[in-house]
Amino acid sequence: MNLIKPLNLLVLFLLPLTLISQEDEKFCGTDEYYQDQLDKNPELQKLEQASNDFAEDYQPPMTKNGQKYIIPVVFHVMHTYGPENVDKEKILANFQTLNEDYQKQNSDTQFVRNQFKSLIADHNIEFRLARLDPQGNCTDGIKRHYSENTNSANDNVKREVQWDPNRYLNVWIVGTINRGGRTNIGGYANYPWDKPYKDNDGIVIIARSVDGGDRTLTHEVGHYLGLYHPFQGGCKQWNINSNDEVDDTPMAKNRDEIISSCDGRNTCDLDFPQGQDKPDMLDNFMDYTPCGRMFTKGQKTRSLSYLDPNNANNRAQMVSQSNLAYTGVLDTIQNKKPLAYFDTEEKEICSGDSTQFEQFTCQGIPDSFKWYFQGGEPNVSTKANPQVLYKDTGSYKVTLVVANENGKDSITLKNHVNVIQGKPVSSNPFQANLDSGNLKAKGWRFEQTIPGDTGWQLSSKASSTGTQSLYLNNYNLDRENLSYSVITPKLNLYEPQRIKLTFNYAYASLSNSSTDKMTIEVSNDCGATWKSVANMFNLILKTTDNPVSEDFVPTPNQWEQQVVNFNTVDSGQIFLRFNFITGKGNNIYMDNIRFGYPVGMAERDDQQGQLRLYPNPVQGKLNLSISNVSTGNAQLTVRNMVGQELSRQNVQLNTSTENNFKFNVENLNIQDAGVYFLMLKTEDSRIVKKFNYVK
Ligand SMILES: [Zn+2]
Repeated sequence: MNLIKPLNLLVLFLLPLTLISQEDEKFCGTDEYYQDQLDKNPELQKLEQASNDFAEDYQPPMTKNGQKYIIPVVFHVMHTYGPENVDKEKILANFQTLNEDYQKQNSDTQFVRNQFKSLIADHNIEFRLARLDPQGNCTDGIKRHYSENTNSANDNVKREVQWDPNRYLNVWIVGTINRGGRTNIGGYANYPWDKPYKDNDGIVIIARSVDGGDRTLTHEVGHYLGLYHPFQGGCKQWNINSNDEVDDTPMAKNRDEIISSCDGRNTCDLDFPQGQDKPDMLDNFMDYTPCGRMFTKGQKTRSLSYLDPNNANNRAQMVSQSNLAYTGVLDTIQNKKPLAYFDTEEKEICSGDSTQFEQFTCQGIPDSFKWYFQGGEPNVSTKANPQVLYKDTGSYKVTLVVANENGKDSITLKNHVNVIQGKPVSSNPFQANLDSGNLKAKGWRFEQTIPGDTGWQLSSKASSTGTQSLYLNNYNLDRENLSYSVITPKLNLYEPQRIKLTFNYAYASLSNSSTDKMTIEVSNDCGATWKSVANMFNLILKTTDNPVSEDFVPTPNQWEQQVVNFNTVDSGQIFLRFNFITGKGNNIYMDNIRFGYPVGMAERDDQQGQLRLYPNPVQGKLNLSISNVSTGNAQLTVRNMVGQELSRQNVQLNTSTENNFKFNVENLNIQDAGVYFLMLKTEDSRIVKKFNYVK
């Protein structure tokens, strides 16, 4: 199986074999997959035998000069927005390799060993990306689906989406394949006689294999067209057709290893016909080598037998003229009315920015375009792919009308472009108590991994000030590594050294293995890139002493305050993003988000004189006297003027006595003389006292 990019070949040959990491070894999963199906349904064996009988005597019909078999293909990119969400460019490059390999246009046929050169076949098969989907809408043949099965994929992804397998070759691109615990599989395919399992028909391939000259797809399409591995069945008698049912591929010993180079190995003595002895054809796409560069004429004949309607197990409907029309891949598009379709890569832009539209019309070639851009400049365009400026915030519709002499068609997409605030909406200091109003109308944005999912929302379940807070229902999620973010309106960062972000929050883990975290990030390019300025990992994030096993609603003393510095950020206009990454924990709440010059914490809640500090001002040791509090664990925290935590320690309190502690202020890592705050947090109260530190 030639699973390694030609580009890497040279490098591979220079490396000792032991340096090829296990990760680079990708095996074909088709044999095992087929065996599983045979175990479940022994009837398959009969279908296989009948199909082999047909293929054995097959004579391909003469095709008119240059006329090819055309196979419509759809790629379903199954992803969770990770690297498995492969770029269109990579898919197209790999698709080109596939086409070259099946038309003997691959330039590396020159490296095929001389004794096999005369056997190289041009399949005369062309693969085309589907241009019409099963609903009759234009498509580019590459569909993207959010799928959590992508990193442990098998036939589970086929349950999520499949286009009629009689009409389209379905290829599912996934992160990793996991079949029965085996994870080093590069891809697997269904044989054409797999009819009892038609609902599974297609090819599953890992995203790492979908790149430029990688031949995994070439190999799996071979199986899809009925080809076996050349080593199928191992060595046989010379007068028995070799077990891959193809005469011109020499027999090879059955094996399950990747051969690292095209060596001269010869694992079977007597080959077909008449006992000639030939070396293994490691040059074949269907072997497990990095040097597959050819199909043989015998393989071509066998493949084409499955495109013949007389074969009981055929894929003939797929290559029929009527299906090529159905899937939109016919050549004769000049004679048809165009179907309008368009897209733009950047649907969410800053006000004052432009975005590029791409028409994506199918069926007929249009000779005129007319675009209408609500809220855009220009608001009308006759260019094929215009660039449009949006000055004002809002959601705007776009209409495209295309026409040729056979007719016209139009498409309107509402709320297609979302223009967000690109100018500062508030001057420093900025404060959001989150108690009233529509945050989105004020320029706040909410983004999450799964578009449309319920993310952060205003809630009156709990608050640190006022009546509402921002709340993320993480308790019911039970999912890992999903991102839920809150993005502020654009802010002015004039003095990064002095300005702070301060906010109150409450969070509990669900168990000791919860891994939720939140990062605070800054963007000074309208959200194009983000830079982390604070990481709040689970241990820092939690504001309760213990995990909370039910739906977490904080009590007043389960709120904490966080202060974020911007020392490493350039001044200018910025967005702030609170990016919460789920890790099977409990709910998080945020409130009273402040941005600007810091204001000190206020003393609070000590009407009964429960906490006394002396001496104050203090130079060395600070004495604490705590009384009239509940017995149990309590927490003492020292913070600076902007609320930054400098020290935290747990203490045991006894209700019946006066509790005395000494705090050595000089151990607190306090740099400057000034005002500091000491907070006592008990089960049911929170007391804050100010003290003055003098050096
Ligand atoms: Zn294979």
